[in-house]
Order: sequence, then structure tokens, then C-alpha cells
Amino acid sequence: MSDNPEDVPFTLLKAWTYARARLKAAGIDQPAIDARLMLEAAAGATRTEIVTDPYRLITPEQSSTLNDYLARRERREPVSHILGRKGFWKIMLNVTPDVLTPRPDTETIVEAALRDWPEYEPRTLLDLGVGSGAIMLAILAERPGARALGVDVSEEALAVARENAANLDLDNRCSLLRGDWTAGLGEATFDLVVSNPPYIPTRDIETLEPEVRDHEPHLALDGGHDGLEHYRLLAPEIMRLLKPGGRFLVEIGWDQSGAVEALFAQAGAIAVATLKDLSDRHRVVWGFKKPLET
Ligand code: GLN
Repeated sequence: MSDNPEDVPFTLLKAWTYARARLKAAGIDQPAIDARLMLEAAAGATRTEIVTDPYRLITPEQSSTLNDYLARRERREPVSHILGRKGFWKIMLNVTPDVLTPRPDTETIVEAALRDWPEYEPRTLLDLGVGSGAIMLAILAERPGARALGVDVSEEALAVARENAANLDLDNRCSLLRGDWTAGLGEATFDLVVSNPPYIPTRDIETLEPEVRDHEPHLALDGGHDGLEHYRLLAPEIMRLLKPGGRFLVEIGWDQSGAVEALFAQAGAIAVATLKDLSDRHRVVWGFKKPLET
């Protein structure tokens, strides 16, 4: 292993092979994917070009950039922080260390939110702890009749969400508000409430992968002594802010289904159930507020 940019070979294919080997040697989880993402960014190449034009030469500057990216990744900085962006559902988002990096698991919320929602039907959405805007913006991008409010306690996170909304041309259909969960929301009600609150028990934080533990905001991860502290507050508040017949979707840890379902049931939710993510783990609790009697 070397930090000398001259050692990075000079075709797309060789650079990819080299990058993959370096990441593998450093014990990185998905060396081929990470190597490709960083090469795409460093060489200004698309994924397709790496395959269809493998002998294209990359410039010494591009090699040097790739070398810097590899050195950072070897120190377990997440790819999303190195590149400053991350794909989620069908959108690309800017990401900084002030927000949780959007994860594929969280797409479970988007998928379920879009179910039974006809494309042009106007509905209102509230995202509590909006972070980068991933969930809210992925939904807005799919449903032209949707309008959303995103709330976060972190001004830095809101700045990232604002930038993402503007980049995706969705800023005319969403508002972003600084607030401690629902504290400033008054009586407004919504058709759909989504949230990916912090839910990791405090003592488990130190056992997380270094990418998460050392680089992601603990504010967005730490769910208190049993991981459920925020749900205790959120369950009744979410039920209060839903319109009759409205739906909620919240992300949970793999072993929190029973406890979080119970909190929402106690708060008056009906048809409470848990959805699994692509890895077949419990990931999202959802349910409804009772419709008005007709
Ligand atoms: N799923 C995230 C992780 O395991 C945690 C997200 C959260 O606390 N909301 O890193």
C-alpha cells in the first residue's frame, strides 16, 4: 500500500482493480462497489463507461484524486462523506457529517408510503427529524400532488435538506422548520407522518462500525438507554398530528417491533403492523389513525 499517486494505474479498468485491492486489503466491507463509486467521481466517468471503455486513460490529477479518496476510505471515512453525496430511492442527495447518510433500509418507508397513493392525489406529509431530506424528498419526487413539512432540531441538517430540496426542484412543495420534534407545530394535521428517529441504545453506539460511530451524528443515532426514548414522545404526538384515516411510518431497530407497536397501539393507532426491509429484518412500524365515523 502506498500514498504515492504515481502508483495508481492509468486506465479505468486498472484503476478500478487497483482501488478494489487496496480497499479489500484494508478490510472494507464492499470493496468493489466503493472502489467503483470513488473511481466514477475521481475520473468523471459513469458506471457504464468503466465497463464499456475500460482502457480509457485517466489523467494524473484524476489518479491523485482517487488516491486521496482511497486513503480516506482506508481510514474508514464513509464513501458518502468522501464524495459528499449518496443515492437514495431514485434521487441523489448531498450528504455531510451533520446528517445521517441515507440507507437502503430506509427505502422501506418510501415504498410503503407510496402504496395506495394514486400518483396525482394531493396529500400532506410530515417528516420528523428530516435530516438530509431523504425520505421526504423521495416521496415528493414520486407524487406531484404531495406537499411536505420537514422538521429537524439541527440547523446544520436543515441547511443540507434545503440544498437538496432546491437541487431536486422540490423546494416549492416543502417547508423546512427548526424544532424539537413536534414542539412548534401547533394544530396542523397531516395525511402521512414519517420519521427515522434515533433508536440505538446509548451503550450500543460504541459497538457500531467505525464509519457510523466515528463519522455520523450521534444526535441522529442515540435513542437513550433502551433506544426507545424518542418513540415514547413521538407515538402520541404522531397520533395527534395525523388526520383521521391518516397513516404513519417510522423506522425501528430490528428488535424493537413489539415495543414500538405497543407504544402506537397505546396512543390509539389502529392496524399497527411491522414491515421488513430487503434484508428480511423488522424495519418499519406503520399504522393508521381511526377514520371519522360516517
Ligand atoms: N439504521 C441506523 C444504523 O444502524 C440507525 C438509524 C437511526 O438510529 N435512526 O446505523
